[in-house]
Amino acid sequence: MYSEKFRLDGKTAFITGGGRGIGLCAAQALAEAGARVVISDVQPEMLEAGRAEMAGLGHAVETVALDVTRPDDVTQVADDLNARYGAIDVLVANAGIAWPDTGGEDMPDAAWLKVVDVDLNGVFWCCRGFGRHMLNRGRGAIVTVGSMSGLISNRPQRQAHYNAAKAGVHQLTRSLAGEWAARGVRVNAVAPGYIDTAMSGPALRQEIGQGWLRDTPMKRAGRPEEVASVILFLASEASSLLTGSIVVADAGFTIW
Ligand code: NDP
Repeated sequence: MYSEKFRLDGKTAFITGGGRGIGLCAAQALAEAGARVVISDVQPEMLEAGRAEMAGLGHAVETVALDVTRPDDVTQVADDLNARYGAIDVLVANAGIAWPDTGGEDMPDAAWLKVVDVDLNGVFWCCRGFGRHMLNRGRGAIVTVGSMSGLISNRPQRQAHYNAAKAGVHQLTRSLAGEWAARGVRVNAVAPGYIDTAMSGPALRQEIGQGWLRDTPMKRAGRPEEVASVILFLASEASSLLTGSIVVADAGFTIW
């Protein structure tokens, strides 16, 4: 009875930034649970690599090139996929970037705007575009990918743009969850700590990363599949009572 709640048979899921990292692991988790999965990413080569990896695992996925900072494109993709599949039941708004250490006083306009555009605006365009269709059908689950950086300010790196954008993702998640809760659409976030992907992996193997790990109660970084299993939980009926939740998956980092 309980394990069935994690099943997604007959459901269709759409994942942004799904060509690698947490997004690709989320695609694997949702596909293993029975969902038909559509992955998108901004670079066609990344998308193809993700498709090939999924095929190697026995999962046929559709791929869609999409830059989440383009609201018209996001709306078009949402409309097209909903028309084609009848419903997109699960949205995983995962695409994100983290630019390197940039002090607030020296922050170039372009750096601030780019990070906020991908990490916050992109999540909103996707929630709006896919959420509309879910509301029309009276059901759906949206999982946004925030960060522990929306809850704490990381050190020693300076990343006000990223921290502010991720805090925005958490409040966006709670705001839409409140608006849509009585209409059958749940909106939750996962807030990962340091995860060993292309985003944080290189730093984790340098002195700065050793400092992060010293400050982590579990003394290790997370693996992308450990975030993917939280995404599966939030996308499935196993989390039917959760909406507006920010589920922290950080090896204990935010305890201290
Ligand atoms: P990756 O860089 O491995 O994956 C992110 C994917 O998003 C990349 O394929 C990237 O493409 C893509 N992307 C970037 N910009 C856009 C865009 N405009 N439109 C669509 N796709 C885009 O990172 P992770 O898997 O680690 O990160 C996934 C999410 O998890 C992000 O939101 C990140 O902020 C969050 N997160 C990650 C943590 C970590 O330590 N790794 C910690 C906390 C949160 P490209 O290669 O071209 O940039």
